[in-house]
Amino acid sequence: MDKERRKIEIKGIVQGVGFRPTVYRLANEYNLKGIVFNDSKGVTLDIEGDPENINSFLEELKKNPPPLSNIEEIKSEKLPIKDFHEFKIIESEESEEKTTLVSPDISTCEDCKGEFLNPKDRRYLYPFINCTNCGPRFTITEELPYDRRNTTMKNFEMCEKCRTEYENPDNRRFHAQPNACSDCGPHLELLDSEGKKQRGNPINKAIKLLKKGKIIAVKGLGGFHLACNAKDIKAIQTLRERKMRPYKPLALMAKDLKVISEFVHIRDKEKELTSSPRAPIVLLKKKEKNILPDNIAPNNNFLGFMLPYTPLHILLLENLEVLVMTSGNKRDEPIAFDNQDVVLRLEGIADYFLVHNRDIWIQADDSIARIADDKPLLLRRSRGYSPQPIRCPIGNEKKIIGFGAHKHNTFTISREDEIFVSHYIGETDNIETIKAFERGIKHFINFFDIPPDIAVVDLHPEYQATKFGKKWAFENSKPLIEVQHHHAHIASCLLDNKIEEKVIGVAWDGTGYGTDGNIWGGEFLIADLEEYERKAHLQYIPLPGGDITVKEPWRMGAVYLYDIFGKGFSRLDIDFVKALDKKKWYVIQNMIDKRVNSPFTSSVGRLFDAVSSILGIRSFINYQGQAAIELEMIAKENGEEFYKFDIIKGIKTHIVEPKKVIESIVDDIKKEIPKESISSKFHIGLAELIVDVSVLLREETRINKVCLSGGVFQNIILRNEATKRLRKENFKVYNHNKLPPNDGGISAGQVAIAMKRFKK
Ligand SMILES: [Zn+2]
Ligand SMILES: [Zn+2]
Repeated sequence: MDKERRKIEIKGIVQGVGFRPTVYRLANEYNLKGIVFNDSKGVTLDIEGDPENINSFLEELKKNPPPLSNIEEIKSEKLPIKDFHEFKIIESEESEEKTTLVSPDISTCEDCKGEFLNPKDRRYLYPFINCTNCGPRFTITEELPYDRRNTTMKNFEMCEKCRTEYENPDNRRFHAQPNACSDCGPHLELLDSEGKKQRGNPINKAIKLLKKGKIIAVKGLGGFHLACNAKDIKAIQTLRERKMRPYKPLALMAKDLKVISEFVHIRDKEKELTSSPRAPIVLLKKKEKNILPDNIAPNNNFLGFMLPYTPLHILLLENLEVLVMTSGNKRDEPIAFDNQDVVLRLEGIADYFLVHNRDIWIQADDSIARIADDKPLLLRRSRGYSPQPIRCPIGNEKKIIGFGAHKHNTFTISREDEIFVSHYIGETDNIETIKAFERGIKHFINFFDIPPDIAVVDLHPEYQATKFGKKWAFENSKPLIEVQHHHAHIASCLLDNKIEEKVIGVAWDGTGYGTDGNIWGGEFLIADLEEYERKAHLQYIPLPGGDITVKEPWRMGAVYLYDIFGKGFSRLDIDFVKALDKKKWYVIQNMIDKRVNSPFTSSVGRLFDAVSSILGIRSFINYQGQAAIELEMIAKENGEEFYKFDIIKGIKTHIVEPKKVIESIVDDIKKEIPKESISSKFHIGLAELIVDVSVLLREETRINKVCLSGGVFQNIILRNEATKRLRKENFKVYNHNKLPPNDGGISAGQVAIAMKRFKK
């Protein structure tokens, strides 16, 4: 029988995920000889043996790759026979590895969980158990290559038993960089609110305290959580008061899928996503009757659940079944992740701190996802996903950095066709967040060794991220481009779906700076990655007072009524008008009449605010988007009736007029039509509007592809109704999946646009 030698190059996420040991094990199984090594492109095999065996080996590798890997391409070529005597893993040169990737952090695997809960195992209940397939990665790595000496595990010297595992290619801890045991690895401590170490077993004590209703800051993979018993209404209330978060939904962690299904409906796709190694928070529909207190997610039909993703979480949840696990931060600040400052940062919030001495190098909040159209949709892309790159169909040898926008901010850097979107940074409007933003950027540039050649910022001159980006470009003498906010939204959707041609882009959100100096947010664009044309938008309306109007939706309700009914609106016989604070309103009316501090806006987010407040759902908000979210939550399911928007056709731009919609809503309120029906008619009206404008633009341009992007498309009713109705009219519809539709996707869109513009 003739043997064959082949060089096989494998591209994708194949490094730091146990790929070479898997290859080694399989090669031995199929009696193949040769070598395997990492290089700048991925993993390369030089392999020799029976041709049929080589084929079966490759089939098996494709069918059962290491759980964290993602094979994108396999190239194979024949070489002259070399007569290898054995199969070996070859160590790579450092210079080569500099350009490789590092896996995101991964939840504890089933094998490790088994050992962890097995009283006979040497790591029984050791809360830092991990292996090649699981454990911390990105958050503990200071620089590449991903090697223990470059991680925060460098201070722990492996004991002999651990080292033997680490060095044995047959062992599932071969080259598991954070490998440790209770003899040689990190350990837990429980501190009181002043940072004083408590005696006794930290975990048992923490469990007791949680049962008693205490709030404990628990150190996880990417930062601290604030934990409390999810069945204890008082503990949750205390946590809300201390965090000054009366309404924003709190995330939950449950022992397993069975426990989760006691509280929410969970379908197969949702189970798959929840239990994936990335372990995001998944939004799931509440069961009508469940025993969890209402104050976990008031006025919301969904609960965000995740499964325990570290051994420490497993231990806590084995005993408590379900915990509130919300980000360990003060309101609007970034998540705390450092033992040194957590006691100060969470002063007055946490009663105790469950900490350990494995440092977190870079923070990563929990990712948030849901299933939409049978596919995962990321609403916040962070732990478990970042820094895995997204591939751009064009690519550019110039390295680009995008500084993002303002809310839910991220930044992005690129290398060739790889787009690295950062972990979640948050609202860049306080010192702590801006510091985290700067630190993150510095880390990414050094970490991936990508000194950017081009900087991209949002058009908004007042965004901190824009200011920071401009300063960065100036100090580093790099060209800078400004990208319009809604173009960046559509670009992020194009990138998400790997589309290069022109599309009808529906970009709806709360706020984005327009080229005419107005605040856009209800935009229909014809766009590709290079350029865009604004073809239609929601009619402009004054936004008196700016930010305060965003926080107090009643102002927008009154502005719309004033705009449509004039001064006579004060005689409208509806509760909203009767309850109006007339003194405050006259100040606002004056501002509008005199055009003082009243920019124009075409924001759909503000229209949602107006409708929500006129309906009496919410006049003041406590977290971003609250008025719109609560309006969505009450909408009657499967409605068919809708309010019709008028479209005023223009030569260059069409204007969407909401006058009739608001009038009909007021009529319906007078007729005492239930709010649930009014909300449904409003949602479906918006979906029908998207179809109408798309049909109009298709007639003009013959473009048949529609991209839906912007924060408004987090609204699942609108997303589903618009998608369904567009498809009925034979449109190809593209939604977000890998990148969030909200401003968390802006930096990626900015970079994709720069890639295209600098291609020539
Ligand atoms: Zn494991
Ligand atoms: Zn050890």
